Amino acid sequence: MENDILRIILDEDTLKKRVKELGKKISEDFRDEFPVIICILRGGVIFFSDLIKEIDTHVEIDFLSLSSYGKSTNSSGVVKIRKDIDTNIENRHVIVVEDIVDSGLTLKYIFEYLQKHNPASLNICTLLDKPDAHKTDLEMNYVGFNVGNEFVVGYGLDYAEKYRNLPFIGILKKEIYT
Ligand code: 5GP
Repeated sequence: MENDILRIILDEDTLKKRVKELGKKISEDFRDEFPVIICILRGGVIFFSDLIKEIDTHVEIDFLSLSSYGKSTNSSGVVKIRKDIDTNIENRHVIVVEDIVDSGLTLKYIFEYLQKHNPASLNICTLLDKPDAHKTDLEMNYVGFNVGNEFVVGYGLDYAEKYRNLPFIGILKKEIYT
């Protein structure tokens, strides 16, 4: 599996350190608010699991699953809900945890969908952001790292459902997806 990786861009220690910082910041911002933290499946799951362990105030967790772009490495913006949240988020502080924001179209869809449930606040936490690829102007409250316009895998992020279990984030060799 690791032989398919051209270059590691974020190693385990770097990820761990940043996730700890984000957890600390979220703990401070939502102390005693009992926020609902929603993991966007499946890509967000490793980041989410590590992040909530770094939050030292009570949180409720839930999961939202969207249709993916299949094997494509490009965003189509076409999104469908596969698994809805089970929590009533009305008047609750909500933090959405995403793996990566590319065009931002997925996040825009999620944001508008959750906003209809009238949360007290709706906050976005993404591990990775590709600012040069944005096609929307949604603001993110917590960003782990900015990355360039390359296709990355690992730490939850897949290519054709593979590589999610890599402990680091890296760039695939071109021959793997062309
Ligand atoms: P957006 O709607 O912002 O264009 O795309 C967001 C979704 O596309 C992410 O949640 C992720 O599933 C997928 N995606 C975008 N860029 C990448 C990437 O570099 N690597 C992987 N593995 N998935 C990506």
